[in-house]
Amino acid sequence: MTASPTPTTAEELRGAGLRVTAARVALLETVRDGDHLGVEAIASGVRDRVGHISLQAVYEALHALTAAGLVRRIEPAGHPARYEGRVGDNHHHIVCRSCGAVADVDCAVGDAPCLTAADDHGFAIDEAEVVYWGLCPECSTGRSS
Ligand SMILES: [Zn+2]
Ligand SMILES: [Zn+2]
Repeated sequence: MTASPTPTTAEELRGAGLRVTAARVALLETVRDGDHLGVEAIASGVRDRVGHISLQAVYEALHALTAAGLVRRIEPAGHPARYEGRVGDNHHHIVCRSCGAVADVDCAVGDAPCLTAADDHGFAIDEAEVVYWGLCPECSTGRSS
């Protein structure tokens, strides 16, 4: 077998200008393996991989990875922040009003900003944040039965 051209997680961190630590590698892998995880789920995933790490250290690593663009933070109104590894494609989210489940929705238009404001007030708009709200299948079934 020849070496895969896909960069390792550690190489990606280095490429983003970040110091490589076991905790950061574990965190990035946890976020990518997960599906819009909250901080506590991420912390337990990181602990499964590298042993004990404080919540504070998890927050610091998340902050660094988010700032470097390797992780995307989403914060639906009224719900705790979630993190995901799908970055840079301008996708949106659908959020369940009842249980807070989050799913990906491809961009409605294709490129950012997804929606064009009727009046931009002279701002150079580069992003439109779209969140679709509703009930997930589990919650809507629970409600009607
Ligand atoms: Zn739900
Ligand atoms: Zn997403």
